[in-house]
Amino acid sequence: MLPSVTIREVGLRDGLQLVKPFVATEHKLEWCRDDVNAGVREIEITSFVPPSIVPQFSDALALAREAVRIDGLVASALVPNLKGAQRAFEAGVQKINYVLSASEAHNQANVHRSTQDSLEDFRRITQERREKNLPTKVVGGIATTFGCTIQGTVPEKRVFEIIESLLSIGADEIILADTVGYANPAQVGRIFTEALRLTGGKPVFAHFHDTRGLGLANVTAAIDVGISRFDASLGGLGGCPFAPGATGNIDMEDCVFLVESMGFDTGINIEKLIAIRSKLERWLPGEQLHGMIARAGLPKTFTSRRSTSPVFISG
Ligand code: ZN
Repeated sequence: MLPSVTIREVGLRDGLQLVKPFVATEHKLEWCRDDVNAGVREIEITSFVPPSIVPQFSDALALAREAVRIDGLVASALVPNLKGAQRAFEAGVQKINYVLSASEAHNQANVHRSTQDSLEDFRRITQERREKNLPTKVVGGIATTFGCTIQGTVPEKRVFEIIESLLSIGADEIILADTVGYANPAQVGRIFTEALRLTGGKPVFAHFHDTRGLGLANVTAAIDVGISRFDASLGGLGGCPFAPGATGNIDMEDCVFLVESMGFDTGINIEKLIAIRSKLERWLPGEQLHGMIARAGLPKTFTSRRSTSPVFISG
């Protein structure tokens, strides 16, 4: 059996959070269903932030209620605070991804409180889950793990302290995020090695942005030290508010191509995944899609374990 690698779609959350025109809930659901049909098993479907802050997520509850009914899908949602977690619990998502920043300055800018206060809020979330006896997984996500556009350097020691705090509070999984695209492969290898040691078998997700072109290099560096869970977005959606015009999350199709080429099984049919792009172009007019594989086509040497027939894309 091939070693497996999980690639979670985050385009519906990270990708859409900067997209101004509202994407219809039915289109978001179709995107989820098409992903699942291509073999994607986990999607971060939305964010439970106040609708006044990000109108794109004003349908979070309605979307989540439908998405959790899709067969074979683990639907997760980002939450920034207890209130968001309560709405996510109500919607019945299988996982909530609670996010705080390792950079104090970023946490203040993002959620207007200290990282320590965000940790206390996470404690309240795990308490609520316990009191209500909910099956929902609670995940601790650390933004700006690899550096911050406001603060600059984020001490690695601080990241490890936060991982330990999240675990002691009750995190079922950890996400380490390169929110602003500052990470490099050497740093990735170092930080994830220690993160795996600290988590002792609990899942660790790597969340990379390709802002400066190192996204996929960081994926291979993480794989080399034993990471097998990645976030990516279809068409590389998801810009950076601090770098206008910059690319977003690592492109999902390219990530699947990379990982499968290296001999891992993602469970994803890459041709089906690429085919969803044409719908995105319709639903997100004017939004630039990224990704090299969709542009160049799959090489003849690539053997897709999931495909029924070879597909070559011209151009
Ligand atoms: Zn991100």
